Amino acid sequence: MPGHAPLHLVMFGRPGSGKSSLAERLGKEFGYQLVRTGEMLRESVRKGDSIGVRLADQLSTGNLVSDELILELLEHNLRPSKESKLLFDGFPRTLGQVSVLERFENSLGFKVDCFLDVAVSREDAVARMTCRRVCPSCGATYHLIAKPPKVDETCDVDGVKLERRKDDAIDVVNYRQKVYDQQTQPVIDHYRVATPALCRAVNGNQAVDAVYRDTVRVLGLG
Ligand SMILES: [Zn+2]
Repeated sequence: MPGHAPLHLVMFGRPGSGKSSLAERLGKEFGYQLVRTGEMLRESVRKGDSIGVRLADQLSTGNLVSDELILELLEHNLRPSKESKLLFDGFPRTLGQVSVLERFENSLGFKVDCFLDVAVSREDAVARMTCRRVCPSCGATYHLIAKPPKVDETCDVDGVKLERRKDDAIDVVNYRQKVYDQQTQPVIDHYRVATPALCRAVNGNQAVDAVYRDTVRVLGLG
């Protein structure tokens, strides 16, 4: 694929890999439409539409969101034209969703032509996530290593004591890493066997700008 920029791209990366900000930057720079099923789901729940109601139902009984509902959600939200370039940010995240993507491709008549893994070690991802801080008062975000506040654990803007986001509590962080290893890593392994020529990886254990530059090069965008 060198020299051939992907039209439709799937990005994988564990929590703390920086995948989502990388996806945003690529989307802005190269005109990809971001596809985020999590955001679509939250939006459906907020609006209380028929998908949202059934979703709330599934979640309240402790079930995972069904593959059928995800497919319906995609078909409901996406009307890509021939010109649209799609960037799936963190989908498919389970082996069940691999066939959801296939069915969606068939119903819309397109094909994902690149699977990109933003590879970060679990240790690095955990370190990054547990170093994130947020100001409970103004919402400013910090990172104890990459973007530390001037005074330890204190907001530069208003002097309020910084907190960890709820999602960054250590047991939540470890749980999300475990879910990724158990559910999403097998998806990457699947594509490596099924479509090795479409698989790419970048080393995510680098500074943000270096990861971005490598990604642009690996995808043949630069
Ligand atoms: Zn603040």
